[in-house]
Amino acid sequence: MSVIKDVIQKVKQMDPDQREFHQAVEEVMGTLEPTTKKHPEFVKANIYERIVEPERTIMFRVPWVDDKGNVKVNRGFRVQFNNAIGPFKGGLRLHPSVNLGIIKFLGFEQIFKNALTTLPMGGAKGGSDFDPKGKSDGEVMRFCQSFMRELFRYIGDDTDVPAGDIGVGGREIGYLYGYYKKIRNEHTGVLTGKGMSYGGSLIRPEATGYGTSYFAAEMLATRGLDFRGKIVAISGSGNVAQYAVEKVNQLGGKVISLCDSSATVIDEKGIDAKKCEYVLDLKNVRRGRITEYADKYKTVCYEGKNVWDVIREQGIKVDIALPCATQNELDGKNAAALLKNGCICVAEGANMPSTPEAIKIFQDKKILYGPGKAANAGGVATSGLEMSQNSLRLSWTREEVDNRLLLIMKSIHKNCADTAEAYGKKGDYVTGANIAGFTKVANAMLAYGVV
Ligand code: NDP
Repeated sequence: MSVIKDVIQKVKQMDPDQREFHQAVEEVMGTLEPTTKKHPEFVKANIYERIVEPERTIMFRVPWVDDKGNVKVNRGFRVQFNNAIGPFKGGLRLHPSVNLGIIKFLGFEQIFKNALTTLPMGGAKGGSDFDPKGKSDGEVMRFCQSFMRELFRYIGDDTDVPAGDIGVGGREIGYLYGYYKKIRNEHTGVLTGKGMSYGGSLIRPEATGYGTSYFAAEMLATRGLDFRGKIVAISGSGNVAQYAVEKVNQLGGKVISLCDSSATVIDEKGIDAKKCEYVLDLKNVRRGRITEYADKYKTVCYEGKNVWDVIREQGIKVDIALPCATQNELDGKNAAALLKNGCICVAEGANMPSTPEAIKIFQDKKILYGPGKAANAGGVATSGLEMSQNSLRLSWTREEVDNRLLLIMKSIHKNCADTAEAYGKKGDYVTGANIAGFTKVANAMLAYGVV
């Protein structure tokens, strides 16, 4: 059996219930076969088996008290996956679906994504099955403080630097950082996504959505195309989706969809800058549901359905798709419908939003397909820029950070495209991203010997 197949089988045998982690390992490992021939030294040092095993997995109890005085308990996670090229780095997710398998899939993806950013960051991820939806600010604060009461032991600005993800935005980072500062008595760059008045970076909130749009623009340019006049479907309505809408508008595209976990809205007239501002207020300040958008702008709304189901069922024409909600949101059936409706480009703002069946359809039909670890790397890249500014005790301007983000996304695109071509897979961004990210980390692991 090949080294790769052997590793995949072992991962499945060891943790049979971690489905999302298996999916991520198969997606990455499935493209690494050529590296075993080109780099026999990786095989000899057993890098393939070592890289799928986290450096450290931390699970802990998070007790907190709700507004009625009831004591609640959630489970906290931090998976420090790989720090070969820099301190552990990756977001925290607060969502009821969180379990060890999901955190491991996200942490594993993060290793390769961070390697692609050109910045020195290792891979990690964490979170909890706590659901911030419907909780008061006081409840979210007490949860975050309890979570940090345990997590603080394992993180540090040179050790592990968490950030936001689903359910963790500016409010949660504020509570987490405030508590860390209180118990450690230090003001350092230990978290990213901080507010501007206490060490945050301009453009960090925008970075993932902007970066995904920049990556899509780079892919389109390889075929002499751009966003102008294109119909763009975006899923989600959180941090990534909001700023993807903003940037697509700036680049001349027309965004026609958004969703949350309860409904999808389709706005054929386009979600312009003013409507986008409404969504930011709805989601980040009032913490309302996307159905309110449909009421306000008199658009159609499909309850209980995601964007890709609606596009398939209603036969809506789409040129470009940016899935920005969650993992496995876009399946094979909906991928086939997207292509039938004219889609030529898919760039993933979310992590692993396309199922393996959907990816196969995109690749077989040779449309432009940018996997999350490349297309959404702008978020963590700008977190890296926040770390740099914290170390320098300086703040860069919006233009400076945005320019750096754009250059990083161009460089990630080029690295993926060049690597794919070098391995005889021109246009295959999945292979390019996986091999480029893996090779960088594997070389560092090799240099350290067996540690
Ligand atoms: P948010 O919590 O801000 O937003 C997530 C959005 O997706 C919400 O609108 C949410 O709706 C919706 N959603 C979640 N689950 C489902 C579902 N099953 N069906 C339909 N809609 C759903 O998270 P982010 O925008 O930060 O993250 C989105 C994705 O991007 C995730 O995959 C994340 O890992 C990835 N990502 C985020 C980065 C960042 O910088 N924030 C960086 C790189 C990747 P509801 O509110 O109803 O749950």
